[in-house]
Amino acid sequence: MAAASYSRRNVALAVYRRPPVFAAFLGVAPQGGAAGPEDALRVLVDQVPAAAAVAPAWLRQRHGTDVLRTTKPGPTGDGDALIVSEPGVAATVFVADCVPVLIAAGDSVAAVHAGWRGLASGVLASAVHELSRSSFRDGTSAEAWIGPAIGPCCYEVGEDVAAQVESRSGPDVVTRRPGRKPHLDLSLAAWRQLAGLGVAPVSTVKRCVRCSPDWWSYRRDGARAGRNYGFIWR
Ligand SMILES: [Zn+2]
Repeated sequence: MAAASYSRRNVALAVYRRPPVFAAFLGVAPQGGAAGPEDALRVLVDQVPAAAAVAPAWLRQRHGTDVLRTTKPGPTGDGDALIVSEPGVAATVFVADCVPVLIAAGDSVAAVHAGWRGLASGVLASAVHELSRSSFRDGTSAEAWIGPAIGPCCYEVGEDVAAQVESRSGPDVVTRRPGRKPHLDLSLAAWRQLAGLGVAPVSTVKRCVRCSPDWWSYRRDGARAGRNYGFIWR
């Protein structure tokens, strides 16, 4: 994959440092080249020098619930939650409206792709259960970060979609008003589900990507949308 160049003006960033864990969300504007996780990580190094010692591992995301583990950087397979226990390998997720969720638990980190399908079918539960098998014994030792995603202001969905996410997350994730389609709060759904799984604390980047030009949104940008990245490593 050819290295992309970036407009440095258009780097959006949210970073959380919990030594030895780093969690970062990055929105990058690719110009004239395909932007992949390795390109995006190079942009992150400009902002977070500690990322220079890190290489990304990522999945071919499917909007499903499969959880994979890896110890090596690079493409890892098909799935929507990636667990890494190797220091220096960043679990990576990329999105453009969906919710990127990063989790640190014991000696492991995980990156989860959580769109409405994943939130309706339990991708966060799958990831936390897999982490709990090896990396932590109770929920109090896991921490999570919810990255920027499309907000309830902009995420109009069909009743069928709203009901599927609502049934797993709680009624307050959907706003219904007469004469309008339901509006769904994906970030709140992720927060509710993580809380229900015993993960705490959970931090949220409260930013609607469709309202914020620094971040990519598929609903706003369509096929020209780049990707927002989530990286977590230790
Ligand atoms: Zn919005």
